[in-house]
Amino acid sequence: MRCSDCVFCKISSGKIISEFIHESKTCFAIRDINPIASTHVLIIPRIHIPHLEFINHYPNFDFNDMYSVAVEIARRENVINSGYRLVINQKEDSGQEVEHLHLHLIGGNKLKVMG
Ligand code: 5GP
Ligand code: ZN
Repeated sequence: MRCSDCVFCKISSGKIISEFIHESKTCFAIRDINPIASTHVLIIPRIHIPHLEFINHYPNFDFNDMYSVAVEIARRENVINSGYRLVINQKEDSGQEVEHLHLHLIGGNKLKVMG
């Protein structure tokens, strides 16, 4: 998927309007349009990285920042103590819908144990 066809790039550039609940130097965060729990936030790097295996092509991308934003949002959403799940879907078997790297932060409800 090219950046010009990518919904998260369009949100990042303001072509599609979405409320940013947080912004950092590398990422922004929005509420998932189709939440699966009472807190379901997407933490999205501004650069278009289609898949994790390309991460080495972006040596300046700061992974720590994406996770720091997740912790900050978990705190603000009051799930820091009750618990939450961070998910990165990759490709077809995971059900990845948007081919632009992003972290799901899901919480606020008891989540099904995986596996
Ligand atoms: P994936 O399956 O790629 O890991 O997750 C993509 C997520 O983005 C889905 O949970 C979907 O509901 C969400 N999503 C897709 N388009 C939009 C949009 O335009 N706005 C918002 N807020 N979320 C979106
Ligand atoms: Zn993109």
